[in-house]
This record gives sequence, C-alpha cells and structure tokens, in this order.
Amino acid sequence: MAPQSAERQEAECVSGAQLVAEALKLQNIEYMFGIVGVPVTEIAIEAQANGIKYVGMRNEQAASYAASAVGYLTGRPGVCLVVSGPGLVHALAGMANANMNCWPLIVIGGSSDRNQETMGAFQEFPQVEACRLYSKFSARPSSLEAIPAVVEKAVRNSIYGRPGACYIDIPGDFVNMQVNKSSVKYVDCCPAPPVSMAEELAVSKAASFIAHSKKPLLIIGKGAAYSRAENSIRKLVDQCGLPFLSTPMGKGVVPDNHPYCVAAARSRALQHADVIILLGARLNWILHFGLPPRFQPDVKIIQVDICAEELGNNVRPVAALLGDIKAVTEQLLDHLGKKLWKYPSNTEWWKELQAKIKSNEETSKALSLQKHLPMNYYMVFHHVREVLPKDCVLVSEGANTMDIGRTMLPNYHPRHRLDAGTFGTMGVGLGFAIAAAMVTKDYSPHQQVVCIEGDSAFGFSGMEVETICSYYRYNLPIIIIIVNNNGIYSGLDADNWKEMSKLGEPSSWVPPVSLLPNAHYEKVMSSFGGKGYFVQTPEELQAALRASLEEKHVPSLINVMIDPQSDRKKQDFHWLTRSNL
Ligand code: ADP
Repeated sequence: MAPQSAERQEAECVSGAQLVAEALKLQNIEYMFGIVGVPVTEIAIEAQANGIKYVGMRNEQAASYAASAVGYLTGRPGVCLVVSGPGLVHALAGMANANMNCWPLIVIGGSSDRNQETMGAFQEFPQVEACRLYSKFSARPSSLEAIPAVVEKAVRNSIYGRPGACYIDIPGDFVNMQVNKSSVKYVDCCPAPPVSMAEELAVSKAASFIAHSKKPLLIIGKGAAYSRAENSIRKLVDQCGLPFLSTPMGKGVVPDNHPYCVAAARSRALQHADVIILLGARLNWILHFGLPPRFQPDVKIIQVDICAEELGNNVRPVAALLGDIKAVTEQLLDHLGKKLWKYPSNTEWWKELQAKIKSNEETSKALSLQKHLPMNYYMVFHHVREVLPKDCVLVSEGANTMDIGRTMLPNYHPRHRLDAGTFGTMGVGLGFAIAAAMVTKDYSPHQQVVCIEGDSAFGFSGMEVETICSYYRYNLPIIIIIVNNNGIYSGLDADNWKEMSKLGEPSSWVPPVSLLPNAHYEKVMSSFGGKGYFVQTPEELQAALRASLEEKHVPSLINVMIDPQSDRKKQDFHWLTRSNL
C-alpha cells in the first residue's frame, strides 16, 4: 500500500480541544459561557469554530449561573468552561445552584497535566472528586478517543430523570494532543428524555381525592415550568375550576392574572386547603415543608414528580404520581374529564380566598400609592409594573426586592421569571440576565430582559455589566433596575452615617447590614458605554424605564433610591423567621 501524504494524515487527526467542541455541537449545545486561560483557551476557540456561541464573562460564578439558566430556558444544557483549580472552584457555585434548582448544566474544567499529578502542578486540584457533591455525574474521559462518549453521557445525565449539573474534566495535556479521527468513538446526539407516565391506579386515586375535596389547591412549581406543561396545566385549571398558586419560578405557567390565581391569598390557601395537587414543586423551605402551622395537619397531598426519591419527602402523599408533569397532567385531565368534574365557583372556600385576596391587595395598593419620598418598595414596583411589557423576561434577586417584587410584578408567560431559587443564591442576577438575553436574541428578539435587584445583590456580579456593554463585547440590551436601600435588608442614610461616624473606628460600629449610602451604581453602566439613570421619584423612575425600553439596543441601569428603612408589609407568617432584625 502506498504511504499516505502528509496532508492526508494531518486531515485525519483531531485535537482534544476540537473533539470537545465537536462533541458538544453534536449534542446540540448552543451556548458556552466561561473565562479562558491555561489550559482551556483552545476549547473556547474551537467551540466558536463549530458554531457554538461563546460569551466570555468576568467571574466563573456568573458564567456558571448563566449556563445553568440556559438549561432552564431551553431544555438543553448550557456549558460553563473554566480553568483548573480556582476557576473550577468558582464554578462550583453555579453547579450547586443548578443541582438545587434541578436545572441541566455542563461544566467543563481544564485540569493540570496528567504527568504532573500529585507533584504540586499549577492549580492542581481533585476536580472530579470536588464536583461529585454538586453534580449528577462527574468524570474525566480516559483518553481522547473517549471524549465524545463522555460528553454525550454528561448531556444525557443532565436532562434525563431529574435534571441537574454534570462535570467533565479535561486534563491540560489532552487539549492540544492529536489523535487519529478513525479511532474516536463518536456518539449520536442524545434524544429528548423518554416520557414517563404515572400508574393508572395512582391517577384514579388522585382524581377521586380531587373530586371529593372541599378546599382544593393546585401548586405549580418550577418543575412544571421546566417540563413545558403550560398548556395541559392551563387546561386542568380551566376544566376543573381549581384555585391555584405558583411558587416563585412556577409563576407564569398559568398567567398571574388568571381569575383562579389565589397568589394574593397564599398563606390562607396553604393553611386551609384540604387537598393539594403538587405539580413539580418540592415540600422544602419554599413550601414550608408541607407541615403545620402553615398547612393542615391532615392535608392530602397529591404529588407529581419525575424523581421517585422525592415522593414522600416531609409529608406522605395520598397519591404519588411518578412521571413527567405534562403527561401526568394529561392523565389527570382524562380521569377528571370522564367524571365531568368541576369545582363549583360558589363555595365557602372560594369566598374565603376571594375575601383574603381583596384585603391583601388593598393593603399593597395603599402602600404603593403613597406619595412621600424617598419611595418604599411598593411604590417602586407599582410604578415599574405600569410600564413593564407583559412579555419581558424578569430576573430578580435580593431580599425584600425579590420577595416584594414577586408579589407585585405579575408574570404572564412560563419561564419568564428567574430568581435566587431553591438555594437562595444572591449574585445570580446578571448571569441569568445574560443567559436570557442570549436566548431571547436568538428565539424571540422582540422580548426584553429586565433584571431587578437589590444593591447588595448587584454587588456580587456587578462587573458583568462590562460583559453586556458595547459593540466590542456582546451588546446585550438588558435593563438593570437596582432598588437601592443602601444595604442588606436595610441601610443607613448619609445623615445617620455622619452622626455615627463620631463613634470612631468604622469596623467597630458600621452596621453589618449597611452599604455605601446613595452609591451611584448607574455610573458603572455609563462607564462601559450603556445608559445610567439615578432616580428618586416615581416620575423619574417611569421616565427612565420608558427611555430604556425605547432604546432597544443599549443596555441601561436605573439606580432607584428608596427609603433605607423601607420594609415588607406585616406578614401573617414570615418566610424565614430566624433573624430578629
Ligand atoms: P419550586 O422551587 O418551584 O418549588 P422545586 O425546584 O422545589 O420547585 O421542584 C421542582 C421539582 O420538579 C423537582 O422535584 C423535580 O424533580 C421536578 N421535575 C423536574 N422536571 C420534571 C418533569 N419533567 N416532570 C415531573 N417533575 C419534574
């Protein structure tokens, strides 16, 4: 046989970096977020060459948050690419957050060369082991040839069953090493997860409990949003006349302005319901563990989840429906449809809920219509709500900013609210907003992304403003609204500050909750080429928001000064009660 030409031999070779990028592309990965450096720069370059969009961020935490939000928004994981050691350690934040949220995510970490392992190599760290605690699957391919199979397995693990984070470790010496293409084990794109349905007996038991309930309640969680079950759930609500409420990120699966939404009577609805249908929400701290005093001691829970191990956590359900929410909701609809069952609209339960909705709405309205300055939270959200487009993607984080914003800013579409989530993570805002802006740019360019956060929350990832700004970077026209109370929970104003500064050394008296009074965060935005607004009145706020919405191609930051002591209205129950502040 004649020897092959040098070009032909070269054409048949492929580097580790190329293999990673090609395998990701084959698995329909569209977006990668990261920070390059030794040894992963070539992987980012190859990803771009293969048609994967790469966004270079300023901190791996924000990159990992962004990649995880892509997974939630598109159903296909985003990738976070990080360097060895500290780069990977920063990305653990996003892996933990994604896993807690049950969102798919792929993290790819470069690691030190194999022949330097245990020798104290540059940034050497037990990365595969470190990621195990934060992921469903954590592995290093045994060879270059095995890279596509490991990538496919990671993608499949991230979306099959309960979604979550997966880690792939790429040693530095793999990146530029070459291998003959013919020896590589290529694996086809993994299909969407197979759909699983609940046992028929369990479905008919559930339908019977629902049909006999006196005070039914449907709870819609972010698992329902992730599973794209909005049409079936909407049908269930309408066909059965069920009062429903959504968890923070379940909002919008059925629009918040639906007449059967009882969000404004949340505590009352949870406390008195006799039968609860739980669609893709865990009975964790967000739902007060499903226990008294927030729930009836004998409440009957009908639990729908894709994760068998979740069924029965904290409360034993009367019916455990293991399966995909969309498919199981169709099964329930079928059973209840056959019974021609609809919950009557004239019951005592409806009257009780409606009365509570009315009184709660009146309290919020009174607070939101106050005229005094500086503004309180309710005034801010009321005036934002009047101007905000109904279809914008809302990102929200902070303490009061997120909690009050959740009740004051309605969602009309599924997967249009991203927030601190199950892990209560602060600092996710800008990463999530960047992910949402990348996805909307490709799939629904008319939609705008609005990120509303507290001044403290903004600080965690503030430098990502540089990522979104200017034609030389990614030019993502995100609108950031900072609800600025000079601190965490509450702050000091400049006068208090002057008075207290007489006390001497700042570290012995500056309240741990306080941040700089009247900080001009809008200048961060203008310094990178976006628009910055400093607003103190409702009129200035609305004018700035209108101008930002009109300037569709320029990112903006509206810094809204509020009363540093502004607080939530009185609650029947606090979500978290540990602090006496
Ligand atoms: P929330 O924060 O809105 O209360 P959680 O994150 O606690 O929601 O719960 C989401 C639940 O949804 C998880 O238990 C997860 O296993 C489940 N889940 C995710 N995808 C699906 C699906 N396709 N079908 C059924 N359940 C799902």
